[in-house]
Amino acid sequence: MFIQDLGSTNGTYVNGCRAQELHLVDGDKIRIGPHDLQYLVSSGTEQKPPEPDDTLIFEKRVHELATGAKDEQTAEKIRELKHYYNLKRDALSDLAYRDGLTGLFNRRYFDGKLQEEMDRCQRYSRPLSLILGDIDHFKHYNDVHGHQQGDEVLKSVAQIVMGCCRFSDIPARYGGEELGLILPETNAQGAFLAAEKIRTHIEQNASKIAGETVTISLGIATYHTNMDGPADLIQHADQALYTAKNAGRNCSKMAEDGKE
Ligand code: GH3
Ligand code: MG
Ligand code: MG
Repeated sequence: MFIQDLGSTNGTYVNGCRAQELHLVDGDKIRIGPHDLQYLVSSGTEQKPPEPDDTLIFEKRVHELATGAKDEQTAEKIRELKHYYNLKRDALSDLAYRDGLTGLFNRRYFDGKLQEEMDRCQRYSRPLSLILGDIDHFKHYNDVHGHQQGDEVLKSVAQIVMGCCRFSDIPARYGGEELGLILPETNAQGAFLAAEKIRTHIEQNASKIAGETVTISLGIATYHTNMDGPADLIQHADQALYTAKNAGRNCSKMAEDGKE
C-alpha cells in the first residue's frame, strides 16, 4: 500500500516526515492538511510479508527520484525518506521471518529456505545438511524454574547456536524448544562437527545460562540423491534426533543415509 502526494501545496506527512511517495506499514500516522489519519491493517486479515520484487521496484523508483531531483534540498529529503523506508523494511522483514522470543528465523522462513536450498543442491549436485536439535528434559526445567526462566534459557541457547553458525547457515526455531539448522555446502562430516560445537558450547555454558545442567540432543541428516524433498531430509534428521535421545541425550547422532 502506497501513499503518493500529487503535488499538494501543504504536503503529505507520514509519521512527521513529508512524503512524496511512501510504502505504508501498519500503524503509520498520516497528515494531509488539517486531517490526521492512521493507516491500519485490518486485524481480521493475515498480513502478507512484502514480496522481494515489490521492494526492488520501490527502491529503484526512489533511486530514480533522488537522482532526478532538481535541487539538493529535494534530493536530501528523498534520501531521508529512503533511510526511513529502509528502517521500516528491515523491521517488517524481521517481523515476518524471525521468531520474536529467540531472534532465530521462524518456521515459515525455515520451510521456504529448506525447499530453496534443496532445489539448489539437487540442480548443482552440491552438499546440504540439516541439524535438528531438541533441549533435553526441558519440561522438567520449566516445572522446576518456571516458564519465564525457561524462556531465558531458550534465548541463551539461541544465542549460542547463532554464534556457532556460519553467515550462510540458517538457524531457526523449528518448534517450541526445537531448533533447525540448515547448512548449505556442508557434508555429513562438517555437519557433525557443527553439531558437536553447538552441543559442547551449550554444555559448557549450562550453569551460566540456566544455573544447572542444560543439554541438547542433535540429529543430523545430509542430502542424498535418493531423497525426494525437504520432508525426507527432515524425517532423517528427526530419526537421528530420536536415536540421540535414546542413546542417553546430550549427544549428536547422524542419520543412516547421512553417512558418507
Ligand atoms: P526430551 O529430553 O525428551 O526432549 O524432554 P522434554 O521435556 O524437553 O520434551 P517434551 O517434548 O516432553 O517437552 C518440551 C517442553 O518444552 C514442553 C514445554 O514445557 C517446553 N517449551 C516449549 N516451548 C517453550 C517456550 O516457548 N518457552 C518455555 N519456557 N518452554 C517451552
Ligand atoms: Mg521437543
Ligand atoms: Mg526436549
